[in-house]
Amino acid sequence: MSKTSSTNIATILEIVRMSTEDGPGIRTTVFFKGCTLKCAWCHNPESISAKPQLQWVGSRCIGCKTCMEVCPENALTLTETGMQIDRNRCIACGECAAECPGTALELLGKSWQLDDLVDEVIKDRAYFETSQGGITISGGEPTMQAGFAGAFLKSLRQKGLHTALDTCGQCSRDALDQTLPYAAMVLFDMKLIDPKAHKKFTGHDNKRILDNLLYVADYIRSHVYPNELWIRTPMIPDATAVFENLSGIGRFIAKNLSDVVRRWELCAFNNLCRDKYLRLGQKWAFHDTELLTKDDMDALTANAKSSGVDPKIVFPTGLTRLKTQDIKLNSASNPGNKTGGGRCCII
Ligand code: SF4
Ligand code: SF4
Repeated sequence: MSKTSSTNIATILEIVRMSTEDGPGIRTTVFFKGCTLKCAWCHNPESISAKPQLQWVGSRCIGCKTCMEVCPENALTLTETGMQIDRNRCIACGECAAECPGTALELLGKSWQLDDLVDEVIKDRAYFETSQGGITISGGEPTMQAGFAGAFLKSLRQKGLHTALDTCGQCSRDALDQTLPYAAMVLFDMKLIDPKAHKKFTGHDNKRILDNLLYVADYIRSHVYPNELWIRTPMIPDATAVFENLSGIGRFIAKNLSDVVRRWELCAFNNLCRDKYLRLGQKWAFHDTELLTKDDMDALTANAKSSGVDPKIVFPTGLTRLKTQDIKLNSASNPGNKTGGGRCCII
């Protein structure tokens, strides 16, 4: 998070190609490992720790116990209920993952050299050029490795590629100064407007985040780049997907940011990350939480549109749950659908 962070090497969790959710056009999103917040609903739990982490995928394990033999720390035990990883012993050396014949063990988080990562992402250049897309850095929180993040974005800008910084805003001003000059746009998360609720659900209040958001807006007003700001709010049942929260966020945007915010996305809760928690041996507070219905999202969207912002900037995104009568209707109108497929729809 400081000028001392490396500009030449970073811990990267994942590179996702062909994304249409992290900015305009088709994008390649680079997920940095390590986050400054710890959101209760986090959909990327493997990105929170800045260190590499071992995970076990039970369906791929053939029970050979090679991993137990090669582990120098005796951190692994295969039991009837699955692989027990003693995380106090594991030093994340990766030897077990390298030897596992079933690829059941994976080390999450890999060190990348700057030039290698640039070469990797520009392989998708043709997609960016035909779709007005580009590269997004996300996480985790990419500004935790600000030196590298800034150097990476700068190199891509020099190659004429569109860049986006996706940030939770819980970072130092110095980290923003290292990354903003090389980001063509900023995706900024606003999760909760109430400081106490923010602290309860993420581990920090939102003072620094809101201060940084105002700083980003001023930066955009006074510089050529970045030239675009999107706000993103996750719609988490009984946490962020609450009318008062959306009204409050909307009032903040209308009062302070109406001249620079191009888009306010309401990202519907999904539970696709449940297996990630299980693989990491962690419990997820939202394991049994159902998706919002389309009616829920419609009401939340209407609430956001009436909060004082220009209604045209509000966009709901993500999956919603069909109600029971919708499923019956869907089956009746699609008699060939014996499996009840289409339980989720993209809005
Ligand atoms: S080496 Fe891989 S396949 Fe063999 S027991 Fe360990 S995790 Fe399972
Ligand atoms: S990553 Fe290394 S220390 Fe950790 S369980 Fe595997 S072999 Fe053992």
